[in-house]
Amino acid sequence: MHESIKEQYHVVIGLEIHIQLLTDSKMFSSDRAEYGALPNTNLSPITLACPGALPRVNKKAFDYAIKLGLACGATITDLNFFARKSYFYPDLPKGFQITQDTTPICQGGFVTIYSNEGVAKQIPLIRMHLEEDTGKSLHGMVEDITLLDYNRAGTPLVELVTEPALTTGEEAYQFLAEIRKLVRYLDICDGNMEEASLRCDANISVARKGAQRLGTRVEVKNMNSMRNVQLAIAYEIDRQIDLLEAGEVVIAETRNFQATSGETVSLRAKETASEYRYFPEPDIPPIWVSQEWIEGIRKTMPLLPRAYFKKFTEVYGLSDYTASVLTENKAFAMWFDELCQHTTHYIAAANWLLGPVKGYLNELSLSLEDFPLTTDCFVALITLVESGTVSFSIAASQIFPLLLQKLDTTPMALAKKLDLIQDSDEGKLKTLVAEVLAAYPDKVAAYKNGKSGLLAMFMGEIMKKSQGKANAPLARKLLEEALA
Ligand code: ADP
Ligand code: MG
Repeated sequence: MHESIKEQYHVVIGLEIHIQLLTDSKMFSSDRAEYGALPNTNLSPITLACPGALPRVNKKAFDYAIKLGLACGATITDLNFFARKSYFYPDLPKGFQITQDTTPICQGGFVTIYSNEGVAKQIPLIRMHLEEDTGKSLHGMVEDITLLDYNRAGTPLVELVTEPALTTGEEAYQFLAEIRKLVRYLDICDGNMEEASLRCDANISVARKGAQRLGTRVEVKNMNSMRNVQLAIAYEIDRQIDLLEAGEVVIAETRNFQATSGETVSLRAKETASEYRYFPEPDIPPIWVSQEWIEGIRKTMPLLPRAYFKKFTEVYGLSDYTASVLTENKAFAMWFDELCQHTTHYIAAANWLLGPVKGYLNELSLSLEDFPLTTDCFVALITLVESGTVSFSIAASQIFPLLLQKLDTTPMALAKKLDLIQDSDEGKLKTLVAEVLAAYPDKVAAYKNGKSGLLAMFMGEIMKKSQGKANAPLARKLLEEALA
């Protein structure tokens, strides 16, 4: 579609995000809420709503929802009611879902997203409420038959609903990235979209610029990665603008994203609130969230990604880019912060973490918890390089891999044993420089005639001659002096 047509439209996007909480038991029963158990084994009469079964509320799920609310600056609701939302679908064993209707646990608040250029935008939230998950329909395992696994039914969810304040697929992507990072920092959800523990529906509408009202919204479901959310939104924006350009109307409906074709297809007409026949859940008393409860949770709040980012850039002097990569993962952020209590070589420490350490962990699919080096040993390694004793490339390629084998030794002992200590003897280095320059008189002449790129070639020769052990910054200084 031509950009000039797109520019005549105003796009509005609101997200509904389902966050599966990492509690041991379900929202309204003591059934296990684990992932991957044998189908239909984590089921009690409560999950199945057998006559007479009584639900009771999982306090931990409230703790987690409050944590997320506090992290987003939302207002926590004190008096909480649950409601029944009725609909018929095979994966819903009760024929209704227990959810919060009029009293969501969190109201308002916002999440700040960042563009690739680092520009911040606040996305206001409407609400977050607690509810239970449905079971799972398994298609295609047996021909022509749908199998049902009710294990997931009753698993606690927080549904987070944003204001229609996003305007592009990229912004939706950034929003999901922030939410995923946040729930992982808070340890309330594993944030895994591929396994559906984090799910996102997108509401999209377009209207001609200057129109008095927002356009008709279409809800898109079934996007199991952040990338797919972005693609689905981009497709839907174009589809809706095409319709309006052709003089047709957008129908309020729910559409399914198909990853194979990258298209959205109509699933059903959008249901309205009255069709759900909400009414108060009679078996659960109101839940009172006291100020003490909230304050108790506030005390357990970890430092959030943005707080680390601020500390890393302002206190440790990291670049925005390095700080944002480091804060992507809580374990990395925490360990870096810990390292900085033991060394002042902050930038070197960050480069070690994001270079050799990350490379090693990725290669073996390990997490930072599995990293074998102690803080002391790692700091000693950083210091070995920063003091000019060993070059970074030798430390990274020869000493680091040996340390990873958990040898009972220190970086310095290894450097000595393997004869890797850098040569910082000025006299020796001067001789080396003189030898290299004497071997290439024509190159020296060319350099003096302006071919300054030859400096790298001389340095290469010096390093080669010293078997990589010359103190490079010092050798470079001496080389420049010799050429001057
Ligand atoms: P429902 O359950 O019917 O989907 P919700 O209240 O859970 O309703 O969610 C509505 C979502 O739709 C919110 O994210 C909101 O921001 C978004 N929304 C509302 N109006 C529009 C619109 N005109 N265009 C795009 N999104 C909209
Ligand atoms: Mg909804």
